[in-house]
Amino acid sequence: MRYVQIDTQSDPHSNSQPSTEKQKDLSRLLVQELHEIGIADAHLDPYGYVYATIRANTNKKVPAICFCAHVDTAPDCSGQDVRPILHKNYQGQDIVLPDDKSQVITTAEHPYLAQKIGDDIITASGNTLLGADDKAGVAVIMEMARFLQQHPQYKHGNIRLLFTPDEEIGRGVDKVDIAKLGASFGYTLDAGELGSFEDETFSADGVTITFHGVSAHPGYAKGKMVNAIKVAATFLELLPKAYLSPESTSVREGFVHPVHIDGIAEKAQLQFIIRDFDTSKLKAYEDLLQDKLSEVLAVYPGARAELVVKEQYRNMKEVLNLHPKVSELAKEAITRAGINVLPMSARGGTDGSRLSFMGLPCPNIFTGEMAFHGKHEYVSVQDMQKSVESIVHLSLLWEERS
Ligand SMILES: [Zn+2]
Repeated sequence: MRYVQIDTQSDPHSNSQPSTEKQKDLSRLLVQELHEIGIADAHLDPYGYVYATIRANTNKKVPAICFCAHVDTAPDCSGQDVRPILHKNYQGQDIVLPDDKSQVITTAEHPYLAQKIGDDIITASGNTLLGADDKAGVAVIMEMARFLQQHPQYKHGNIRLLFTPDEEIGRGVDKVDIAKLGASFGYTLDAGELGSFEDETFSADGVTITFHGVSAHPGYAKGKMVNAIKVAATFLELLPKAYLSPESTSVREGFVHPVHIDGIAEKAQLQFIIRDFDTSKLKAYEDLLQDKLSEVLAVYPGARAELVVKEQYRNMKEVLNLHPKVSELAKEAITRAGINVLPMSARGGTDGSRLSFMGLPCPNIFTGEMAFHGKHEYVSVQDMQKSVESIVHLSLLWEERS
C-alpha cells in the first residue's frame, strides 16, 4: 500500500530512459529498504534498474536465480495520488469506490472476486488505477527477501533481485545488463490469479503496409486519381472478422489486428500486430495479408503497396523447453505452498519473453493482481502471501535439487 502511493506511470511518448524520472522515486525507496534488511549491494543504475543480491548461504553449488518485477504503472489510467483502501474480511458485497461512486467493483463483473470471500482486498479509491500491476510483484519479492534475510536456517544459492522500469510501454528490458545480473534463470512476478503460472507467451510480429495512390486535383481527377485511403479501406474489408481477430478469438487462437491507420489520398499506412503461440503461424498470417494485398491492388490499377514485417518477440516456451527444470521447480514450489498450479498462456508478451531470448529463461508467477490497467483493479492480500510462500519455496528448492 505504500508502494502504490508513489506515482510511477511510464510514458510511451518519452524517449528518455527511464521514460519518466518519477519511476525512480519508488526504485530509490526499494534500494533503501533493501539496505535496511542487510542487502548491501542494492543499487539503482542510471537507466532506472534496481539490482540486488540475497547472498548464498549454502556450500552447495547452486545456479543463481533472479526474481523480477516492474515498478511502472500503465499509461492507460491515472496513477497520480493513488489512495489504496484495505477491505478486511471481504464478504462478497459490491465495493463502491468512495472518490467516484459510479465506480463499483462487483462479483458479477469480476467473478474471481467471488472466490475471495474472507480475504482482505485492496482497491484504489475511484479516480486512479491501483498499481497492483506490478507493485504486488514488487511487494512479494521484497517480502521474500526480508524473510530469507531473517531466516538464515533456510539454505539457498545466490538470488538476484531486479526491478525494472517501463514494462508497460514495452521497453522494460531494453537496458538490462544480463552479464551484470549474472543469473542463470529468472522468474517475473506479474501474473494474476492464485496459482497461475505462465510459461508461454504469444510470438509477435508487427506489420506495416504502405499504400501509394495517385494524387490529382479533385476537380480534375477523373480517370487519374487513385485514392490510397480507399485502397486501404478496401483492403481492410477483405480481412477476416469472425476469426483471426482479437474480438473473435481466445485461449490459444492467434490474430491479425490493425492497430493504426493514417492517410491522405496520395499515401495511406496501416499498422498491424500479428500474434500466435505457434511462431510458424505468423508467416501464414503474413502470407494472408500479402494475398489480400495482391487482390486489392488488382482492382486499383495505378496503386502500389509495400508490406514490411518486423519481429517483435517470441514465445518463451521455445527457450523454456530447453530448460525444463525452471518451470518444474516453480510448479513444485507453488504446490508446496498448498496451491493448485494453473498453467496459463499469456495472450501478450511479458518482460520474461524478451529476457528468455536474451539468455535468461524466465516464466511468470502469480501475484494476485487482477483487473489491471483500470480503476477496478484489486488484489487479495492472502494471494500475495501465497505468492511470497511460493517463491521462498522455489528459492529453497533450487538449493535442494542442486
Ligand atoms: Zn505488469
